[in-house]
Amino acid sequence: MAIYNPASLHAEEFINDEEIRETLAYAEKNKNNMTLINEILEKARPIPTATGCRCNGLTHREASVLLACEDPEVTKRIYEIAEEIKLAFYGNRIVIFAPLYLSNYCVNGCLYCPYHMKNKTIPRKKLTQEEVKAEVIALQDMGHKRLAIESGEDPVMNPIEYILECIDTIYSIKHKNGAIRRVNVNIAATTVENYTKLKDAGIGTYILFQETYHKESYLQLHPTGPKHDYDYHTEAMDRAMQGGIDDVGLGVLFGLEMYKYEFAGLLMHAEHLEAVHGVGPHTISVPRVKRADDIDPDEFDGGIDDETFEKITACIRLAVPYTGMIISTRESEAVRSKLLRLGISQVSGGSRTSVGGYAEKDRPHDTEQFDVSDQRTLDEVVAWLMQSGHIPSFCTACYREGRTGDRFMSLCKSGQILNCCHPNALMTLAEYLVDYASPETKAIGFDMIAKELKRIPKEKVRAVAAQNIEDIKNSNRRDFRF
Ligand code: SF4
Repeated sequence: MAIYNPASLHAEEFINDEEIRETLAYAEKNKNNMTLINEILEKARPIPTATGCRCNGLTHREASVLLACEDPEVTKRIYEIAEEIKLAFYGNRIVIFAPLYLSNYCVNGCLYCPYHMKNKTIPRKKLTQEEVKAEVIALQDMGHKRLAIESGEDPVMNPIEYILECIDTIYSIKHKNGAIRRVNVNIAATTVENYTKLKDAGIGTYILFQETYHKESYLQLHPTGPKHDYDYHTEAMDRAMQGGIDDVGLGVLFGLEMYKYEFAGLLMHAEHLEAVHGVGPHTISVPRVKRADDIDPDEFDGGIDDETFEKITACIRLAVPYTGMIISTRESEAVRSKLLRLGISQVSGGSRTSVGGYAEKDRPHDTEQFDVSDQRTLDEVVAWLMQSGHIPSFCTACYREGRTGDRFMSLCKSGQILNCCHPNALMTLAEYLVDYASPETKAIGFDMIAKELKRIPKEKVRAVAAQNIEDIKNSNRRDFRF
């Protein structure tokens, strides 16, 4: 039998089924142990330091106890600490991105995804480079600067060369004041050699959802195709890091398996990356199974309600305080509003989840990967964020300054975000407002910028940011960032 070892490179040792089961039993046994729960909550709190603050984070066992506890008072405290951590390390900024679907050809048989090979009703489409260009221009016209490209797995239709060509095309397009400054990549598990090619193409984060950490369910949910290989899929992030990619993004598809099992597995995966590579995941995404062509979410018995979903998000925030957290337009405005307070740091906006969807005037549904719940435009999402006290950020400075991997984590831990990320967020927001916003959003935005500039502690930084924003307003644009 495999032994639990977070520093091992073998999936069955770092995502160890026995350890997860023991964790769930430990959490169940201690879910009313208030002495232990108080200790865990105390450990999770941000601790002030000379330059800002730091956090201890939680182990998968400790976080699982909090998740199991049903006391409403404890839940309330978890939410308060989640918000404190979010504000301490990410401030009130929310990074904006959009997915870009390149191809829905896929040779896998994933039971929860409409792109699965046996689905004969969905039209198949792969963007040509001309179509990629049209999509990117449409995204730039909305104001996007950061994309996550998505593609099914098909070595013949979507080989790595195709993905690399698309990345080149995306980065090459400069339309009006638009530019895509960071391309994150969500493609199937691949080889170290291919990850190096992606790194050399200048990608930001490599994202790969585990879907489920429960091996038996994984094998059933992925009955055919290369994705059936649980170990190859689970060990992908190690290969990505060996290939030179510093920033990796984890996620599970909540609703496929028992959520407590997934939660523990997800945190063990983060602990494993920290133990082997010295840096945890750059981001964690929290998607839930959604309705789509040939997919009925009710067929999966692991579905979770909104309250449980909120608690999972908050407990992840406590466990991995320095990791960005992403929520997509799979979730409604109401759910997204609540989660913003519990630790989410990135949202998508104005998304279309079909291949070639942005260049179409009306939202096409034929090739959608999932039903978009939040169907607002990017302008509406930006206004909504600001009205709820968040700064929509189009910043990609860390990536462009080489602050990736542990260098980004050092910035996050240094407590210097108010002197670095905050002014960058305000300057990129100003660019968005001038170039793309409606008059109403522009008015809200420049009011907010005036107030938020005052929160920058260093006088010199504040003055430079204010001057840059004036210049942006007066069409005197420079590519400046802290
Ligand atoms: S989840 Fe990915 S691999 Fe599976 S069918 Fe959908 S596109 Fe293909």
